[in-house]
Amino acid sequence: MADARAVGIDLGTSNSAVAWVDASGQTTMLRNAEGDIITPSVVLFDDSEVIVGKEARRLAHLYPDRVAEWVKRDMGQPVYSRPIRGERLPPEVIQACILRKLKADILATVGPTAKAVITVPAYFDELRRKATADAGEMAGLSLLDIVNEPTAAALGFGEALGYLSPLGKPLGEMVVMVYDLGGGTFDATLLRLAPGDIRTLATDGDVQLGGHDWDTRLVNYAAEAFRQAHGRDPRDDPGALSRLYATAVEAKHTLSARTRATLRVEYAGLTCEVPVTREAFEEMTADLVERTAYTIRQLLAAAGLQWSDVARLLLVGGATRMPMVSRRLHELTGLTPDRTVNPDEAVARGAAIYAKYLLAVREGGPAGATFKVTNVNSHSLGVEGIDPQTYRKVNIVLIPRNTPLPAKAVERFMTKTEGQRSIVIQVLEGESSLPGECMAIGRTVIRDLPAGLPKGWPVEVSFEYGENGRLTVRGQVPGTHREVVLDLERDVGLSNEGISRWKQAVASTAGFDAFENMIQEVLNVPVAAKAVATPNSAWSSSLAAPSAPRREVPPIQSQPMPLDAPVVSGPTPARVESPLPLGAPLGSGPEFPSHGGAGRTAGLDDGAPTFVPLADAPPAGSNPLRWVGSLIGYGLSAAVGIAAGYLLISWLFPGRVPRFW
Ligand code: ADP
Ligand code: MG
Repeated sequence: MADARAVGIDLGTSNSAVAWVDASGQTTMLRNAEGDIITPSVVLFDDSEVIVGKEARRLAHLYPDRVAEWVKRDMGQPVYSRPIRGERLPPEVIQACILRKLKADILATVGPTAKAVITVPAYFDELRRKATADAGEMAGLSLLDIVNEPTAAALGFGEALGYLSPLGKPLGEMVVMVYDLGGGTFDATLLRLAPGDIRTLATDGDVQLGGHDWDTRLVNYAAEAFRQAHGRDPRDDPGALSRLYATAVEAKHTLSARTRATLRVEYAGLTCEVPVTREAFEEMTADLVERTAYTIRQLLAAAGLQWSDVARLLLVGGATRMPMVSRRLHELTGLTPDRTVNPDEAVARGAAIYAKYLLAVREGGPAGATFKVTNVNSHSLGVEGIDPQTYRKVNIVLIPRNTPLPAKAVERFMTKTEGQRSIVIQVLEGESSLPGECMAIGRTVIRDLPAGLPKGWPVEVSFEYGENGRLTVRGQVPGTHREVVLDLERDVGLSNEGISRWKQAVASTAGFDAFENMIQEVLNVPVAAKAVATPNSAWSSSLAAPSAPRREVPPIQSQPMPLDAPVVSGPTPARVESPLPLGAPLGSGPEFPSHGGAGRTAGLDDGAPTFVPLADAPPAGSNPLRWVGSLIGYGLSAAVGIAAGYLLISWLFPGRVPRFW
């Protein structure tokens, strides 16, 4: 029975949940071996066993150096932010341990043919999506796809509202906001639901805000009360602090149901009972809920919508159970927040529906409701240009955040100087207009331009961003037959070989020993090397002339190249095209209040103030002192860089590099 194999996994920062589609086509929450719907995303690496879930959370304060928590926050990094028993593990390996536990629960209920969709936050970039898929692979899951949490949540609500069923009442088109307040993150997303089409309009959030911040306020409140009573502070002791957090979480949950709770604080043989009213709790945390209010206001503005355009406000995430959340949202939006689906379940249920749909599409089974999912990019993509007025480098955004994918954009630049022979196209990811505040993700150079090109010769740069997360950058100089193509693909993090080796450790029943052996074998020196090499770039690139086969290029440089610095100029309208029909106005980056053809207008030589980009050969005439200064600067930075690199490599690989003295 094809339907009974579709599974949705909400791999949360603090808790995970699994749903599956039963034979009747409805989603059901899966109970884990402990009998719960929720599995805490906590892993305890014991000597002989890897323990995941409730038990790991319960023991966390006893073995702080053996427990991994909040690992999802570190996805995309080479290693988890805290050492486990002195060792640094890749975060996807720890996530794989959680998924392996979930897989065992799935096996017990759904059976071995289960195929899963795993959810990720909408703001996750391709690197973190890939890391999540790798975790699924290491856990031995049969993975159908990764889908955004808010999209899944909308599907989960869609099912409950009868919106997805072919027999259900058609609700027509509507815009919904998913407000997801979890344990450590807050995300808000606007989606347009139409029959057969789920379109993300805009997404925003705060990766450092969640239920845990409410816990911290209670912890501090109770610790202060304890200090006043006994002159000692339980926060000074990690074990006592950890126990205090557990007490605070309980009190917080109680305060969602009742108007008062008591925290019992024990430390150094002393005890203190600290009563808290809901009112006091709400007062001490009002600014936190206000931060979410600020974010959703910004989100609405980014999408060019009013609250009256939003039909439903869907509450997702355990922390939305706090009454202050619904109350504040109602005040702000005039809407009654929708709690039709349990906030712990919506994401997993929606992911299961999506899994069922994918299975049907791939295997020709009955799909039930059909729909197309359209995502947006969550980070702006642009090119480094030079403002001809100030000579400052600026980030010229080609594909603003929240553009529906796939997307294309073309931008016109100009050569900066008379007879310019090369043009550098530095690709940037980020919202700032200052390239230094963005991530340099790739770079390509158009070389050997014909001699004697006049200043201001057009240069066309186009971006093509596919749903698969692959960005193709093209640079063209009309009339010269010069063209470069840069294919950017997120660096894959772990290699295929690494993944299959880790898979053995994840599957092993040898506890931490299996990981320790693997750390030596798989990571060895590269962990340190990777940590040093990746901060600037989560992408790998292959650079090729259009007709030549692709070849790998070395890691992308974040410093401008000495002589080939780029130039460019003159902005033309940023044309962002989506093959899909555009809905309501979408949010856009700060430089582009709107897109879809209504961007800036400027000719190549119209002296428009904003601008531009690309490479440059050292300009012959203008500002000689500036350029001499820059050259000396570049020379010095290059020399310092080379020396530092050499020292680092000799330190990492003693005896493997030639000595020059
Ligand atoms: P994540 O998506 O980050 O894994 P969840 O959606 O599971 O997180 O939300 C976990 C957060 O919700 C925790 O901070 C937890 O304390 C909080 N939470 C769960 N139930 C309640 C409740 N009844 N009242 C207040 N907060 C709650
Ligand atoms: Mg969640």
